[in-house]
Amino acid sequence: MTEPKTTQLQPMPDDWQRALAVVAHPDDLEYGCSAAIAAWTDAGREVGYVLATRGEAGIDTLEPARCGPLREQEQRASAAVVGVSAVEFLDHRDGTVEYGTALRRDIAAAIRRHRPELVITLNHRDTWGGVAWNTPDHVAVGRATLDAAADAGNRWIFPELQERGLQPWNGVRWVAVAGSGTPTHAVDATAGMERAVHSLLEHRTYIEALTDEDPETYARTFLRGNAEATGERFGGRPAVAFEVFSR
Ligand SMILES: [Zn+2]
Repeated sequence: MTEPKTTQLQPMPDDWQRALAVVAHPDDLEYGCSAAIAAWTDAGREVGYVLATRGEAGIDTLEPARCGPLREQEQRASAAVVGVSAVEFLDHRDGTVEYGTALRRDIAAAIRRHRPELVITLNHRDTWGGVAWNTPDHVAVGRATLDAAADAGNRWIFPELQERGLQPWNGVRWVAVAGSGTPTHAVDATAGMERAVHSLLEHRTYIEALTDEDPETYARTFLRGNAEATGERFGGRPAVAFEVFSR
């Protein structure tokens, strides 16, 4: 982290109505963001999820053909817990998502369909801060999402999208990156925390393959720990942090 730990995070902008979260895998949002998403849907805002893959390569003991459909089902259930019903999958391959124009076009198309003011994604940098290496899928999807927020508004980039009836949408005002090592803003996680725990718990197949700990204890300990650590920079309130890129 380049900032001193005492730097306070700013409250997230809240003059918006629609958000779209674009991430690589089932569970990427539940590992940190969903308390914020619960707070937003409570306030009557619309939030949609777009996943580049079905996470089919995420469980060593489960072959992709069986894993993909199961994780899709778990993702839909975990979205429903925090008030999200629009969940889409872009059908890129888990583990080998490539940053490039194909990915940017797919995400720009999703942004044009949903017309969000706020776009959420996951850490696009090489590390989680320090020396904890990020995964190539997160880097590719995060970067492509930051780029696609602009692509979506330009009629001359990806003209084939207009042929499919998707008109340019230049209304994205912020891209908020979760899991950043250099966050700038935060959302109070108090009201959404219990639903965030249950939202993460819907990824039961994944969690049971990951840990021998009781899944609910695991989910609660993980999410509360992160939210409380973020809270040290947000007036002591448990919080979800984002690095916000304004447009
Ligand atoms: Zn992931």
